[in-house]
Amino acid sequence: MSEENNENNERIEKFYFQSEAAEVLKMMINSVYSNRDIFLRELISNASDALDKRRIETLKDTSLAENKYPEIKIFTNRDANTISISDNGIGMSRDEIIKFLGTIAKSGTKEFLNAVKNAKENNSGEQNLIGQFGVGFYSVFMAADKVEVLTRKLGSQDTYLFTSSGDGSFTIQDALLRPECGTTVTLYLKNDENINSDEKIERKDYFSEWVIRDIVSKYSDFIAYPIVLNVTRTEDGKKITKDELLNSQKAIWQRPENEISDEDYNEFYKHLTHDWHDPLIRIRINAEGSTNFKGLLFIPSEAPIELVMNPDSGGISLYINRVFIMNDCKSIIPTYLRFIRGVIDSEDLPLNISREILQDEPIVRIIRRSTQRKIFNELKKLLENDREKYIKFWNSFGRILKEGILQDRDNAQNILDIAIFRTTNSNEWTTIDEYKTRMDTRQKGVYCLTGRDNLDALKASPKLEPYTQRNLEVLLMTDPIDEVILSEAEFIFTKDENSKLLNITLNSVSPVSDDEQKDNEHKLEAFKEKFEPLKKIALEILKDQLEDVTPTLGLTDSPACIKDPFAGMSFQFERLMRSAGQDAPLQKRILELNVNHPIVKNLLTLAQNPEESRSKINDTLHILYDQALILEGVLLPDPAAFVKRIDALMSKNMGE
Ligand code: ADP
Repeated sequence: MSEENNENNERIEKFYFQSEAAEVLKMMINSVYSNRDIFLRELISNASDALDKRRIETLKDTSLAENKYPEIKIFTNRDANTISISDNGIGMSRDEIIKFLGTIAKSGTKEFLNAVKNAKENNSGEQNLIGQFGVGFYSVFMAADKVEVLTRKLGSQDTYLFTSSGDGSFTIQDALLRPECGTTVTLYLKNDENINSDEKIERKDYFSEWVIRDIVSKYSDFIAYPIVLNVTRTEDGKKITKDELLNSQKAIWQRPENEISDEDYNEFYKHLTHDWHDPLIRIRINAEGSTNFKGLLFIPSEAPIELVMNPDSGGISLYINRVFIMNDCKSIIPTYLRFIRGVIDSEDLPLNISREILQDEPIVRIIRRSTQRKIFNELKKLLENDREKYIKFWNSFGRILKEGILQDRDNAQNILDIAIFRTTNSNEWTTIDEYKTRMDTRQKGVYCLTGRDNLDALKASPKLEPYTQRNLEVLLMTDPIDEVILSEAEFIFTKDENSKLLNITLNSVSPVSDDEQKDNEHKLEAFKEKFEPLKKIALEILKDQLEDVTPTLGLTDSPACIKDPFAGMSFQFERLMRSAGQDAPLQKRILELNVNHPIVKNLLTLAQNPEESRSKINDTLHILYDQALILEGVLLPDPAAFVKRIDALMSKNMGE
């Protein structure tokens, strides 16, 4: 920051834009994006937000003056080559100007900049990207080469003037007191001679009333505050200038569905969420009966990072009788539906309702229940009718939705009914009901395997071998939360006996029929005597890691596999606990050895004379155990020892 005084001896401070902001700015200035009009949409949207914020502040603090005439004014001046967008909303303090206009706080900005850079290098669709990114205030630099923001914060006596030519810096200076709080953004439009000669786009005349009317009706008709424009009319032979209303101010969710185009809905969604993509799914609610309310809900097409990570994010905008009451209202929607955006408008709630009492309001509970029901129904319809779109939804929000299985027992079954999973059967996704149609009649439940994020690694798990061998399908679950769901499954699901989710990681779950079991026991009996010495040694060598060592006929290709003792904690669960900062002591597990595998057969022979082959048995068992851990996706506790043993084996193999 540097400071100097102007000719009137007023203090002017100079600042530099944060580097990401400067990059976006540069892009805007050089942009040849053809849809310049969006600057007006963005500024009107900001003005409308500022009016909402002022309303809320004055409700909270009655010493602040109520805003009886909230308004957004557009003022064009052909002679000065300027357009101003003015609101009497909350305004900004000096620090807020620096924070809000000098930086870009949006998540995804870095990714966006990279995407634009790549598109530029490949000569593909850079403009298109810019159009999709909600650049907000900075979009003014697509149309202007200088911008001034005059602002006074609600409750303050100070007015500031922000000025920038988008060249990496901006200035802030004290200004004459604005009569009312609020913000005026003035654009000095680019002159023709400043336009890049390569530019092929059609330039609109923003001084034409009809151009402005057209843009406002396209993007901002639903804005709840009046948007007015100064127009010149000839009345009684005299030219007069007056303000004329441009928007219908009709709440989009109150209008008949057939009157509204997809584009209208999408524009509304973008205004509401500041998302730059179209929404994936739209849900309209029209509840009539003992409680009347209307809703317009959206599911975004991509999950913003903060939504996934932060259970406190998200929420619905609450309106009472078309009057905006609050943003991010959490009481209407459970946290596991926090990806839903939109508006609920109730006729039955008192206007002075506060966040605190909202939760206990019986009407809110009714709204919440019926909104939830509607969302589940719509998702179910989508699942049945448009699988491709549903998968897109599931990839973004399935993890969050599944939290509901644990949080909301009343709806656990509803959520599970619309959950989709990967499977060993095919590369498609499947529901549990679909799985059941393919189930073997002898199955005692739905077989599930949980594991790491990586599906291919999970598919290679030796635990699947006894199932694939018998042509039995197993659901593959890669989300950490699946582990918790499975551990609670028997308390949650009551639908029918066959729908029980069985975690095949548990020692107690097996695909083997009772007859087969008897047969196996009989066969294993023959190994019993031979197996005992190996088991004894293995339990000595791996005494801290193992609770038991058992022979198995279930594995086909793998020599060994680790099972969890009944009700034990799986590796995934352990990982989950640790990542949640909880103490998870290492569990002792069961090592199953495939008695048909050549390595195990050799071990069985060596174990007959353990003294002679102690170090060989020791190394082999360690390697088998470590390999089984690797296949479980577990980081080896002592990778150096594993590598050393493998190196020794390789050297021997090469005859050294
Ligand atoms: P976004 O609106 O998506 O947050 P913008 O770049 O458009 O991003 O605006 C950044 C911030 O500047 C806004 O979040 C708001 O806090 C502030 N701001 C912008 N315009 C106004 C305005 N007219 N009145 C008050 N604050 C504003």
